Amino acid sequence: ANRADLLNVEGVTVRFGGITALDHVSFAVPAGRIVGLIGPNGAGKTTLFNCLSRLYQFSEGDILFEGRSLQQTPAHGIASLGIGRTFQNLALFRTMSVRQNIMLGGHCRTRSGFLSNALRLPWVGREEAGLAERTDELVHLLDLESVAQTRVMDLPFGTQKRVELGRALASQPKLLLLDEPAGGLNHEEVEALMELLRAIRERLQLTMLLVEHHMNLVMRVSDQVVALDFGRVIADGTPAEVQANETVVQAYLGGV
Ligand code: ATP
Repeated sequence: ANRADLLNVEGVTVRFGGITALDHVSFAVPAGRIVGLIGPNGAGKTTLFNCLSRLYQFSEGDILFEGRSLQQTPAHGIASLGIGRTFQNLALFRTMSVRQNIMLGGHCRTRSGFLSNALRLPWVGREEAGLAERTDELVHLLDLESVAQTRVMDLPFGTQKRVELGRALASQPKLLLLDEPAGGLNHEEVEALMELLRAIRERLQLTMLLVEHHMNLVMRVSDQVVALDFGRVIADGTPAEVQANETVVQAYLGGV
């Protein structure tokens, strides 16, 4: 593995009965880059995300994060390693406020999780203060100040998606896995999301892996694009290279 890579996916294979959802998938995510992961429906994008967050086991291959294998890492150990994710179907506490939701995301990373809080362990006060400060910074970065105290369920979908992003960022990930962040957004919201992803990378020095069907967003925001089809990598290169790739064009046209 190249030392400049934060993530290396090496020959990962996942089978569900007779279906090979991922077939010896290999690619690298260099530190500080935004890598887009595209592919027609059923190509294996979500399966790969689930492998990265250790929700699925892979039968062959390996995934290295900062050069270390994730084979032995349980799903609950992923956030503390520095991998955060958002979900296609938002994973928010709907009756809690925007600020509370973002703050809760931070508990994944601190020693003072729910249990330490309940036990009133000595480091809680210090970490809580840091968490509150970080939450305020994220509320500002995501332009959520005017709705910080509003219940998530009372907000438009596009705003809820920003809260989901904040929740994932609160755990201070090194690698952020974004599962269709543009899904369900209107044109203005997609443009705003693009600016936001760029700002996040600049300010927080984050590396991102982005699963997305919105081609315009992927091609404009990604440094590198990996295309999957039927569980295989069919292209890996700059957005321009992947867009011009004959196999990629065929995969999309064939599916229409
Ligand atoms: P989409 O863009 O529609 O979300 P995708 O690229 O994310 O598609 P996956 O959801 O990863 O594709 O699916 C890849 C293949 O694996 C599909 O054939 C799917 O039916 C199969 N698959 C995914 N998860 C499971 C599962 N838990 N059990 C059985 N088959 C599954």
